[in-house]
Amino acid sequence: MIKKYRQRSLVFLFVVALPLLVSSPTFSQKRDAFRIDYTVKVAIIDAQLFHVTADVKNINEPQLDLSLPTWTPGWYTVENYFKNVLRFTVTDAKGNRLQPRMIRKQTWRVDTKGLDGIKVEFDYRASVLALNQAKITKDFAFFTGTELFLEAAKHRTSPSNVRFDVPSGWKIISALKETSDPMTFTAPDYDTLVDCPTEMGRFDLTQFQVEGKPHYLVTTPTGALSKDKADQFSVMLGKVASAQGAIFGGLPYEKYVYFYFFSRPESNAGGALEHLNSHVAFAFSPNPEFMIGTASHEFFHLWNVKRFRPAEMWPYDYSRENETPLLWVSEGFTNYYGSLALYRAGLRTRPQFLASVEAAINGVESNEARSYISPADSSVSTWVGYDTPVAFGISYYTQGQNLGALLDLSILHDSGGKFALDDVMLALYRDFYQKGRGFTTEDMIAIVSRFTKRDYHDFYRKYVSGVEVPSYDTILGYAGYKVESSSLKTAEMGFDVDDSPAGLKITSVVDGGSAQKAGLRTGDILLGVDELDIRKDGASVLTRLQERIGRRVKLAVKRAAADETLDVEVGSRSEMGYKIREIPDATAEQLTIRERWLRVSH
Ligand SMILES: [Zn+2]
Repeated sequence: MIKKYRQRSLVFLFVVALPLLVSSPTFSQKRDAFRIDYTVKVAIIDAQLFHVTADVKNINEPQLDLSLPTWTPGWYTVENYFKNVLRFTVTDAKGNRLQPRMIRKQTWRVDTKGLDGIKVEFDYRASVLALNQAKITKDFAFFTGTELFLEAAKHRTSPSNVRFDVPSGWKIISALKETSDPMTFTAPDYDTLVDCPTEMGRFDLTQFQVEGKPHYLVTTPTGALSKDKADQFSVMLGKVASAQGAIFGGLPYEKYVYFYFFSRPESNAGGALEHLNSHVAFAFSPNPEFMIGTASHEFFHLWNVKRFRPAEMWPYDYSRENETPLLWVSEGFTNYYGSLALYRAGLRTRPQFLASVEAAINGVESNEARSYISPADSSVSTWVGYDTPVAFGISYYTQGQNLGALLDLSILHDSGGKFALDDVMLALYRDFYQKGRGFTTEDMIAIVSRFTKRDYHDFYRKYVSGVEVPSYDTILGYAGYKVESSSLKTAEMGFDVDDSPAGLKITSVVDGGSAQKAGLRTGDILLGVDELDIRKDGASVLTRLQERIGRRVKLAVKRAAADETLDVEVGSRSEMGYKIREIPDATAEQLTIRERWLRVSH
C-alpha cells in the first residue's frame, strides 16, 4: 500500500516539477533557508556559567529582531531570563562587533543589511534549580530551552541544531531529537526547541518501551531512586502512558523523557512541569506510589495544553503574560484525567477514584472564594499569583477537576451513554491541534453540544463563567450516586499552607489564632505534626488533625536554616462537607451510566 502510493507520488512530482525548473530562472540561485544553530557549553562550573553561541545563517532581510523568552509555558510567571545574561554580543562573519538595539525588554534589533550571517554570544548564569530556571553544579547542568534560545521574528518555523560542549565524563539526555552525533540534537522549529529540557552530567537512567517507543526515566542525584524502585516506577509509568494513549489512539511522540529531581527546588517553581514530550518533577521522597500521581497529571498534559491548547496561547507569546479563561480545562481536566488514568491503569481502586471526585467537590465548596471567582476568572488571573500567595483566591485546578467529573457525567447522561468527556478530549485534539489552531470556550461548547444534542451554553454560563453551585445530587445521580452534605466540625489551626516540595509552606497566619500565639510565621515550612511526617505522607497529614480537635499538637517547622518545634492547640470550625454514596436502589439506566463512566478498558 505504502509502496504503491510512493510510486504514484514520484510520477506526479516529476511531471509538475519539470516546468518549474525550466520556467524559474532564479531556481539555481535559491537561498538556503534561514536557521539558527547553537552551541551550549558548560563553560565555568564554579561561576555557574553556560556559554551560548547562536549561529544565525542565511539572513535575507535588512534587520532582524531576536528575543529571549520572559516565561516558560506551563509555569505562569514572568521571569525575564535576560536577568541571568552576561556579555551579550553580536558579530558579523569577519568577527566585527555589531551594536544591536534593544527595542523591547529582551528584544534586540540587529542591522543585517548585506549580511548573510551573524553570531550571537552570551554567558548565562545558571544558579537556580527550579522548573523554570537553569542550574549548573559540579555534578550536573540542567536547563529548558526558554532560558537560552533566541526567537527570531518571522522565523518561528525554522529548524535548529544544538551542539553541547560538556566536561569530560558527563552524559547528556535531552527531550530534543537525537542526531548521528551524540553531542548534537535537533528541533524542527522554535516552539519545539524551547519546550525541551536537557540535563548533562551524572544521573541515573532507566529506559523502557511503551508501544515500541523509547521512554527515559532520568533521576538526580545518582542513587536517589534505587534500581528496584526505578523499575517499579517505570512499569507504573508504562501503564499510565497506555491508559491515556488509548483515549487518543496512541502516543504522539517519538520518545518521552521523565526528569525527576530528588532535592529541594531553589525557588517557588517546585512541583512538576509539563513539556511537549517530557516533564520535569521534584519528588518528596523516592516513593513510586506517591510519585505516580504527579506523573499521571504531567503526562496527560502532553495532549491537554501541550497539543490542544486555548486559542490565547496559540501560538505562545513568549514576550509577556498569555491570559486565557480556559486553564480550568488545561489544568483542571488534567487533574481529573490524572486521577482517572490511575484508576483505568489499575493503580487506584474505584473507591480511591471516587474519593478524588469527592475531594474536588469539597475543595471547591469549602472555599469562600467560590462564590466570587468563576473558573474562567481564576484562569485569567493566575498570572497574579501563580507561585506567590494571594489574599483571596480559588484554584482552577480544583474547580476544573470538579467540572471535569460533572461534564463527563452530564455528557454520558445526555447522550444516553454514547459519548463521554473522552470524546471531547479527542475532538479537541483532532479538530484543533491537528488542524493547527487553538480552541475557544465557544469551540468547546459546540463540541459538547454536538455530542449531547443539547445547548450547553447554560452549563457554561452557570458554572464556568458563573459561580452557581451545581446540583451535585442530580448530576452524580445520573450514575446512581448521591451526594450527602452535612455540617462538619473541621480542624482549624489558624494558618494556610501551600503545597511545595520543600514541605508545606505557611502562606498566612491568622491574627490572634492559636498558631500565631505559638510563634508560627509566614514562610515557615511545616515538616510534621506530632509523629506524622509531611515529607513522607504529604498534605494528607493535615486531614489527620481532625482526630485531634481540642488537643495540643507539636508542629515541626523549618525556619531559615534551623528546625523548631511549636506547641499549638487544634481549634475547630463548622463547614459543609460532601460525601458521595451509592444509591441503594439505583435504576438499570443509572447503573449503565455508572459502568460506562467507570469502565477500565477503552
Ligand atoms: Zn498541570
